[in-house]
This record gives sequence, structure tokens and C-alpha cells, in this order.
Amino acid sequence: MSDCLFCKIARKEIPSAIVYEDDTLVAFKDISPQAPVHILIIPKAHCEGLGDLNPETAAAAARVTQVAARIAADHGVEASGWRLLSNCGPDSGQTVYHLHFHLLGGKPLGGRLCL
Ligand code: AMP
Ligand code: ZN
Repeated sequence: MSDCLFCKIARKEIPSAIVYEDDTLVAFKDISPQAPVHILIIPKAHCEGLGDLNPETAAAAARVTQVAARIAADHGVEASGWRLLSNCGPDSGQTVYHLHFHLLGGKPLGGRLCL
């Protein structure tokens, strides 16, 4: 999508700190990190979120857990632990409507998953 922020990052039309890339996924540091390790993993193909998957983005999303584990290891949080989550829709707090998974780690993340 031409006016989508994360499509532009995937196309490298705007700068980001990319930490991983393959044919269908790209991962980059969150611009406003909420933990020492806060990385966003996105499919290169556009979809709004987990409620909007198509065969191409579903196939990319299916690979995210494996890629997340590799990125977590690369960033030294394999043993200390990490969290992977994706917000979907208004009540989740989703602000960017291009599917993305937050990889968080590097500190105790707390037990609450919602307020
Ligand atoms: P969400 O609230 O789940 O939609 O998450 C969107 C995330 O994108 C937030 O954590 C933002 O800090 C992050 N973000 C927004 N703009 C950028 C950007 N240009 N580069 C990296 N991360 C961004
Ligand atoms: Zn997009």
C-alpha cells in the first residue's frame, strides 16, 4: 500500500533499524521501545492485522515464531525470556494497521497482559 508506514519501511523508502530480513519478512527496532529489546516483525506484503490475513500474509505470519526465536537469540534474550504479541483492532491498542508482531525482552515484562 503506497501510504502505509510499514510498507514504506519494508520498501526502505523511510529509514529504520532493520535487524533481520528475508524474502517475506522484515524486522526492525521499534522507534519508541518499551523494553531493552523491542523489535517489530512484519510481513513485507500488506495486510491490516491478524483479522485480515490472506494466503500470502498467512504464510509469512506462520514463519514469524521461528524468526522471532532467532532474533531473540541474536539479541541475547534466549535464556532470560521474551514475549511475542500482535495487537488487532481498536480495543487492542493497534495504532499501525500493517500486521506486526512485537518482540519484547531484556527485562522482566510483568505478568499482566492487559490493564
Ligand atoms: P501497535 O500499537 O501495536 O500498532 O504498534 C505500533 C508500533 O509501531 C509502536 O510500538 C510504535 O512505537 C511503532 N512505530 C511507529 N512508527 C515507527 C517507525 N517509524 N519505526 C519503528 N517503529 C515505529
Ligand atoms: Zn502496509
